[in-house]
Amino acid sequence: MSTDTPGSQSSLHRANLERVLRAVRMAGSLTQAEIARGTGLSAATVSNIVRELKESGTVVVADTSSGGRRARSVSLSGDAGIVVGIDFGHTHLRVAVGNLAHRVLAEESEPIDVDVSAAQGFDRAEALVDRLLRQAGFRPDKVIGVGLGVPGPIDVETGALGSTAILPGWTGIAPGRELAARLGMPVHVDNDANLGALGELVWGAGRGLSDLAYIKVASGVGAGLVVNGQIYRGPGGTAGEIGHITLDEAGPVCRCGNRGCLETFVGSRYLLNLLSTTLGPDLTLPRVVELAHQGDLGCRRVIADAGRQIGTGVATLCNLLNPRRVILGGDLAEAGELVLAPIRDSVARYAIPSAARQLSVVPGTLGGRAEVLGALALVMSEMGESGAIGRSVQASVARP
Ligand SMILES: [Zn+2]
Repeated sequence: MSTDTPGSQSSLHRANLERVLRAVRMAGSLTQAEIARGTGLSAATVSNIVRELKESGTVVVADTSSGGRRARSVSLSGDAGIVVGIDFGHTHLRVAVGNLAHRVLAEESEPIDVDVSAAQGFDRAEALVDRLLRQAGFRPDKVIGVGLGVPGPIDVETGALGSTAILPGWTGIAPGRELAARLGMPVHVDNDANLGALGELVWGAGRGLSDLAYIKVASGVGAGLVVNGQIYRGPGGTAGEIGHITLDEAGPVCRCGNRGCLETFVGSRYLLNLLSTTLGPDLTLPRVVELAHQGDLGCRRVIADAGRQIGTGVATLCNLLNPRRVILGGDLAEAGELVLAPIRDSVARYAIPSAARQLSVVPGTLGGRAEVLGALALVMSEMGESGAIGRSVQASVARP
């Protein structure tokens, strides 16, 4: 805890130092000129702060070139701390161990049963974190924080997982608190769409952007919104529930209790239902995408129709938030242009032309790793700056 008086010279210096650290941490590495541009600090201030951070071993500085000119790139020291990402999905558990210089040191995924209890899930996660830390050669006390992704909305007040059709045995459990107690490490928790957005922002198709939406289409449909470089969650943590935009008041009943939500037209259960009479009951969404790529007309039609419906939601999002890029993730993204072209058609049709012109709709580049990498990025974006300068971090749970 700092005892500085707000507005004093030292608290100003500390605030500037935190701004520089945060900028470097989120970008992986930056030149001093880029740090100055990104933070609004003067070149001289940045230069002084970088020197100080270098002397304390927090950052490393290397010669590089920028636009043909010599420059110095600043990145966090590889041994400044270790972060862990854990992603629980519909059918998998994925864990990654990385450092603050954005290097992934170990990563593994294993299949998980949808009906797994929360306790069993945590047992598996604990064992996997332990194994990967050993593989990467780090003791648990080097871990600054753990990012945890869960496939459902987190209640901001209680940290508990709201009702989810994806992991029904987890409803009402506060996964962040549970895991923090088991691991003895600070845990930050967020839903899968927000983590996918963070992953693509820091490592994937959103690099260098400050305004984007990541739309995950799998069993459910959700969006992670990045506004001004930060995830926008809203006061209750439910921002981005694009899957529950009403498309047809007389449509099918949705798991949210409403009717005709976008999700009831493009969620995997709905798409598989459409094809079950012709292709049998054991179909999976990845298989539908594969068949579509091989030219199956029914699968192509179902994917194109889903794209058009998703595009209606994207057009609304575009009118409200004017993002620079929409990144499609989840199983359906593997369909590539088969789904992206119809999305763009709908956006052109329904969005305000000036907003649509500035928008690009692209597939994610991280595939199934987006969420676990986003979990690493979550720790980097949420951790107290004291973590990066080597002080102990209080165990914190869930969203503030
Ligand atoms: Zn709904």
